[in-house]
Amino acid sequence: MQPDSNMTIDGDRLWSSLMEMARIGATPKGGVKRLTLTDLDLESRDLFKSWCTAAGLTIKVDKMGTMFARREGADPALPPVMLGSHLDTQPTGGKFDGALGVLSALEVVRTLNDLGIKTRHPIEIVNFTNEEGSRFAPAMLASGVFAGAFDLDYAYARADVDGKTFGDELKRIGYVGPEEVGGRPVHAFFEVHIEQGPILEEEGTDIGVVTHANGQYWYEIVIEGVESHAGPTPMARRKDALVGAAGVIQAVNDIGFRFQPTACATVGMIESYPNSRNVIPGRVFLTVDFRHADQGKLDEMEDALKEAVAEIAKAKSLTYSLEQIFAFPVTAFDEDCVSAVRGAAEKLGFSHRDITSGAGHDAVYMAQVAPTAMVFTPCIDGISHNEAEDMTQAWAAAGGSVLLHAVLERAGIVE
Ligand SMILES: [Zn+2]
Repeated sequence: MQPDSNMTIDGDRLWSSLMEMARIGATPKGGVKRLTLTDLDLESRDLFKSWCTAAGLTIKVDKMGTMFARREGADPALPPVMLGSHLDTQPTGGKFDGALGVLSALEVVRTLNDLGIKTRHPIEIVNFTNEEGSRFAPAMLASGVFAGAFDLDYAYARADVDGKTFGDELKRIGYVGPEEVGGRPVHAFFEVHIEQGPILEEEGTDIGVVTHANGQYWYEIVIEGVESHAGPTPMARRKDALVGAAGVIQAVNDIGFRFQPTACATVGMIESYPNSRNVIPGRVFLTVDFRHADQGKLDEMEDALKEAVAEIAKAKSLTYSLEQIFAFPVTAFDEDCVSAVRGAAEKLGFSHRDITSGAGHDAVYMAQVAPTAMVFTPCIDGISHNEAEDMTQAWAAAGGSVLLHAVLERAGIVE
């Protein structure tokens, strides 16, 4: 049996679940603050669990607290098709980042229940712990452990600003599950997410078919000059580290423009020493974040950065160190899963375009261990990680229905 184009999820039900979930940690400005492993996170997990139980699913929790709600397939021995995202948010987060992926997955299962559809492969809805990384760095911690990028001890030892560890807090909320993390076959993984950028809304496109996640290179640069008195030191004799940093910031921005499309280049943090109004800065620390959908271009951006920093230091008589502290390669999502998403959008009559993800997602780690794809929906003005994050019910419903068809394509229908 092939699902036809009339088969859609229930957009009203999805929206009301999103709004109910958004009440947990709701902020006065209309956003959500639901940091990972807090009491509010616990509350959202329990609500999600109650909905899954009501939908007849079996819930398992792994040692990272990641929740898997399983709908059995006709052949339970087959590996599951997984779909989901995360329920934690940024401190000033919105209603949709993460929750849309988890709750549209739930809506897919509710729809299959309503229609009495049995799939060949089991289906598992996933709620990954600590995707945001704002309380416990790094981001995407649980999907990272699932994919083998981090080990469990490393994850448990991550501490928040108060020194509380991930392991202790997971225990405190009662979500240390018995299941081993990862190490089992996954037939496919799908994640619906708001785009977190302006492209889909601006073009009036319903669905983003995510083909790649951009690679990321992060750097720390320390520029050193000589501290001296801002009054008696003549301009020609200065070794001003902050002036060097200004050149580097401009160069980073220029590199971003030079490697379009898809390049992003950001200096997001800068510390000047001694940061005194009448002292010429002797040392500056700054960070660089490069992203690109093409690995070769990302490497060229790195070369351009090294060249620019060397030139600036030479011209200003400064010394420097430049260190790459994080590298995440470009992720190409699975061709079959991507075409399942594209085909679903096509069949349902939604406008769609191929797109790359500029942000990290659990799907990026899952792509290392399973055939994976993502579905992007538009969001208002491309805003996210912000209480003003918003979308329309129609956009959410379109994303959910595309997920339904893509999942059925991979899970197979028995009757
Ligand atoms: Zn997210």
